[in-house]
Amino acid sequence: MRPTGGIGPERMRRLLPAALAAVALVACTSEAPTPNEPVSPAPASQGPSDGPWTGEQLTDRVFAHLEAFQRIADGNAGTRAHDTSGYDASLDYAEQSLARAGFTTSRHTSEAVVEENSTAAVRVVQGQQVDLGTVEPMTRTPGGEATAPLALTTDPLGCTLDDYAAARGAIVLVERGRCPFTDKSALAHEAGALALIVYNSPGQGDLRGELADRDDLVPSVGVSDAVGESLAAAVAGGGIVVQVTVEESRETIQVTNLIADWPGEGDGDVVLLGAHLDSVPAGPGINDNASGVSLALTLAERLAARGEADGLRVAFWGAEELGLVGSGAYVKSLSQEEVARIAGYVNLDMVASTNGLIGLYGAGAPFEAFSAELEHHDIDYQVLSITGASDHAWFESLDIGVAGFYTGAGEPLAADEAQRFGGTSDAPRDRCYHQACDTVDEVSTAQVRDRLSDIATASLDGMRVLLGETRG
Ligand SMILES: [Zn+2]
Repeated sequence: MRPTGGIGPERMRRLLPAALAAVALVACTSEAPTPNEPVSPAPASQGPSDGPWTGEQLTDRVFAHLEAFQRIADGNAGTRAHDTSGYDASLDYAEQSLARAGFTTSRHTSEAVVEENSTAAVRVVQGQQVDLGTVEPMTRTPGGEATAPLALTTDPLGCTLDDYAAARGAIVLVERGRCPFTDKSALAHEAGALALIVYNSPGQGDLRGELADRDDLVPSVGVSDAVGESLAAAVAGGGIVVQVTVEESRETIQVTNLIADWPGEGDGDVVLLGAHLDSVPAGPGINDNASGVSLALTLAERLAARGEADGLRVAFWGAEELGLVGSGAYVKSLSQEEVARIAGYVNLDMVASTNGLIGLYGAGAPFEAFSAELEHHDIDYQVLSITGASDHAWFESLDIGVAGFYTGAGEPLAADEAQRFGGTSDAPRDRCYHQACDTVDEVSTAQVRDRLSDIATASLDGMRVLLGETRG
């Protein structure tokens, strides 16, 4: 899961929508990996091999895989990030698990350009001095330098063009929230602003955000909530002139995805079940996203064991945390005919959040199948939009029907969600998001197990419906 600033409820479902979400961010650090013994696929757990499994049995199986990914991280300097031995070991594990279940696996490696190590600076060149603290360039921000008066939007969140009445020829200051960072940057551009400074939500500290890949944006940087307040006060107290400098840096990387097909499907339509396999460098990535991979493995194993895997393609993506890189490379490699064969894409990214909810996003046949199964099983859920925060975005861009489960990242759980799903309101949905503490111990709670049981039950039935429709 990637931080885009716009994660939030899409429309009301059953109860009131949640308060607007703000994703807490933590700087990533990397450590040199030390290779270790390979981890073998978890042996199939007890249960009828071809009959239905209970949610509890499915959950046990998901946890067997989660334990394996934790062991992989433990043996590889605590991470499974892109370009580490922990990622390679994760690829081996997923490949062996799928092969053991009867799938034909292949690795797809391609080159991709990613943005890394861009730098940004802001300084006050005229008027009251403000300590700028940490200034973070947004991922995919255009580069550039501008010196101009700092202007405020009429609504601090700056989500409509009307808010940018004072923006022409100025550098604009807005607060995080309500709409994605990309919207704010595009509105600033449309209003004639030269650059954008976004400050974090109250109490959230430094801000490192991400923009969509568009060419109608202005140079955009993030600062802390405290710096934002100081800058706003300086503008109100007589005005200041600031200089924003953003230097882009791009790098070519090798990204490897794992693709697995059920044998003998020929040229028929396929349903893609996808999850990103990489973690951030800071930790083992158990909720983000061994949870999605482990659930996908479990579903693939069950569908195979029941003879219902015809038309299933499993895809584990590389370098999601560097900007949805692996899924993007895959989508760009497809011919028109191959795109036309994809009947739907199901995305699993972060399904074991400790203080989470059951969120469902997407549109089209996959979304309808999953929402119908949730309702059939009488499982409460919240319809969400996570915009471009995960790999489904590429498939949406091709007008392929999408569904995805999400139980939460660093943004707080709203009061009504805490009531519905159990949990602590105003606390992060996942307090270990993108941190070293995103471990299997952290997610081994009764609440996480209960939610996983519900999600696995609805997912398995949803996949059976989708695959059945595909076969006609
Ligand atoms: Zn993530």
